[in-house]
Amino acid sequence: MNLTSPSQVKAWCIENGFHPNKTMGQNFLIDRNALLGIVDAGLKPVPVEKAAPRVLEIGPGLGVLTEELLSRGCLVTAVEKDPVLAGRLKAALGDPEALTVVAGDALDFIADGSSNLSDFDCMVSNLPYQAGTRILLELVQSRAPASITVLVQSEVAERLAAKEGSKTRGLAGVWAQLDYDVEIVRKVAASCFWPRPEIGSSVVRLVRHDRNAGFSAEEREIFHKLTKKAFEHRRKQLGSIFKDMIQSTARAEELSNEDWIYLVKELMNNADA
Ligand code: SAH
Repeated sequence: MNLTSPSQVKAWCIENGFHPNKTMGQNFLIDRNALLGIVDAGLKPVPVEKAAPRVLEIGPGLGVLTEELLSRGCLVTAVEKDPVLAGRLKAALGDPEALTVVAGDALDFIADGSSNLSDFDCMVSNLPYQAGTRILLELVQSRAPASITVLVQSEVAERLAAKEGSKTRGLAGVWAQLDYDVEIVRKVAASCFWPRPEIGSSVVRLVRHDRNAGFSAEEREIFHKLTKKAFEHRRKQLGSIFKDMIQSTARAEELSNEDWIYLVKELMNNADA
């Protein structure tokens, strides 16, 4: 089956009595240009000397990205929650040795210590709409894949890339940017998916940086707690949220990641004193 042929994808669903499930975020990518765009962007940060990069794919669906990644010599681990899709994937792509299919929820796969996320050179996925943000936030906190390239709703992409002072600045941006540089690579129209979603998507790429590699586990915990609480009251001044701890008239969205890190270090110094 040609997975970027809308008529062939629809025909497969009809023949197999498969109805794309909205709550599972099943919107299949059916556009060849967008497919090449995401795979090119996803493999770009991988060092050229890696002949067979290990790629994590979450939500392979019918396998449109999986097939393209395999054709470029990648070793792919694909985690798919839908048992019907997970069960058919390997045989449907011709039983490639380079493909490992994991049937299950990506959140469990990430949380499972035996998954060895750091073995992956990168992650490339067209993520399910509903679970996408949670999956990404869990992944960035693991700091395991050196790069993460995903197709998500444009809104989510903008929040991940948002810098201080912008309206879309929130926890997603603050947490993602702690260890990753975030860049929106390109937009992908809603018409590139079937069934067609209500809103457009974007390819967003996160490349791990080491600027905060020295931030300890304890500092990270405080960073996450502090920012979570601050953004729960995003209209309030920090000084009134954290009485006696922080003196500031600034609001959460105005602070850069460097500001947050500075605050965490100050709070820890004061606690020690
Ligand atoms: N990558 C395919 C499918 C994208 S649709 C394509 O581009 O065409 C999103 C896929 O994620 C679906 O196959 C859906 O079943 C799967 N999915 C949804 N929630 C998931 C979860 N929590 N863990 C793993 N896969 C999930």
